[in-house]
Amino acid sequence: MNTPVQNPEVPTPGRGTPWHARVLTLFPEMFPGPLGISLVGTALASGLWTLQARQIRDHGLGRHRTVDDTPAGGGAGMVMRADVIASAVDAARADQPHLAAIYLTPRGAPLTQARVRKLAQGPGVLLLAGRFEGVDQRVIDGRQLEEISIGDYVLSGGELAAMVLLDACVRLLPGVLGAADSLTEESFEGGLLEYPQFTRPREWEGHSLPEVLLSGDHKKIAAWRQSEAERITRVRRPDLKR
Ligand code: SAM
Repeated sequence: MNTPVQNPEVPTPGRGTPWHARVLTLFPEMFPGPLGISLVGTALASGLWTLQARQIRDHGLGRHRTVDDTPAGGGAGMVMRADVIASAVDAARADQPHLAAIYLTPRGAPLTQARVRKLAQGPGVLLLAGRFEGVDQRVIDGRQLEEISIGDYVLSGGELAAMVLLDACVRLLPGVLGAADSLTEESFEGGLLEYPQFTRPREWEGHSLPEVLLSGDHKKIAAWRQSEAERITRVRRPDLKR
């Protein structure tokens, strides 16, 4: 079940205030969505982080609250207006000036675990979710929004990208994962993909567990896992830096 929390009351920033996510979107009703479920949702409900989704259209122009216009120079689609987005960003920053301000876009720098870790260590994020053909470049530059992509494909809007970034950050916040969950051996830590995981049953459809995992020899197991992680990374992601 979705946790019906959007924490509209956000405490004034300061020492000890929870990590805050503020999302500017044309579809605030999409939030918390999947972020209201499981670990991240429980953390939201218990106040380990706070979330506020704000309607960009509140800053729209005229009777119809217009947020977009035709592309300068012609071409297909519509573009989100600089004046409208600037007004939404400025209002969102007024009481939270220290949030990392990010525009989610396929033209951005690829999101990495290193960037996620840095963002999770800060006070929180202000995320701009685009729609249509995107956002007038002048407001991206003028408000110094960091441009981040979640992968080399085009989504219909930035909301799902915002959720991906938020999920990745929130699970790193203190108290969100149980003590038994190790973050240090995960994929991308130390420039490696994680070693393969196995569990019971010992035999499944003719496949046995790797013998070493049954040996009880922790040194041998650690060495096997390290060499598997290195092998898989070499084959699948030779681009990962160590
Ligand atoms: N015309 C844009 C282009 O070709 O780069 C694509 C616009 S897309 C249809 C609409 C919005 O979805 C974007 O403004 C952005 O916020 C979001 N979006 C789409 N793909 C994304 C991705 N890979 N990473 C992050 N945001 C994405």
